[in-house]
Amino acid sequence: MPLHDAASQLATIHQSIARAAILAQREPGDVTLIAVSKTQEAAAIEPLLEAGQRHFGENRVQEAQDKWPALRAAYPDVVLHLIGQLQSNKAEDAVALFDVIHAVDRPSLVTALGAAMRKTGKHPLCFLQVNIGDEPQKGGCAIADLPALLDAAQAAALPVAGLMAIPPADSDAAPYFALLAKLARRHALTGLSMGMSSDYETAVTIGATHVRIGTALFGARS
Ligand SMILES: *Cc1c(COP(=O)(O)O)cnc(C)c1O
Repeated sequence: MPLHDAASQLATIHQSIARAAILAQREPGDVTLIAVSKTQEAAAIEPLLEAGQRHFGENRVQEAQDKWPALRAAYPDVVLHLIGQLQSNKAEDAVALFDVIHAVDRPSLVTALGAAMRKTGKHPLCFLQVNIGDEPQKGGCAIADLPALLDAAQAAALPVAGLMAIPPADSDAAPYFALLAKLARRHALTGLSMGMSSDYETAVTIGATHVRIGTALFGARS
């Protein structure tokens, strides 16, 4: 896909989000579109910044450290989301760079993030990731472990925004989104980070507050 298409894709996706939100009697403005820019170079990201997009998602701390300081100098109001797995030894770098961290999934990481926040004085919002399809290869805490993880996050004073999940591939995502929404309600959490290129409209009808979209914006990653 040529670079200039990302901006027109952005407009199309905003329309689809608005349609899905209205269908569910929600406010389109209550859904944040995170442009997943992992593997994309600055030249591919700039047209989206020019088009007004401000929320971006990366899955690797190192890649984001290489790419974003320069882009942020030009667009200081960028909101950077870490959407990938985070190793505890990178917690301080992540806290220093990101505004929102989406894959908090174990007590050891909660501890590392709490220490990094105290040390840096920065307090990025956190989403707790749930392994919603109970898949061995996926990140996220087991559903049964969520109450304990939430307790740990509260004890460490993490600002918990809500829950995040990636449903199993090749299956209808809707029941998994509904389950995540139910778990969030049970714990009085309002944020729901769910929905990617193939299923974001479904996620919005079920209550997503944050959708993470890469391929539908930028084209297939090489
Ligand atoms: C890559 C990625 C996305 C974006 O996926 P697309 O299918 O390209 O939209 C969303 N969430 C996470 C956690 C990712 O790693």
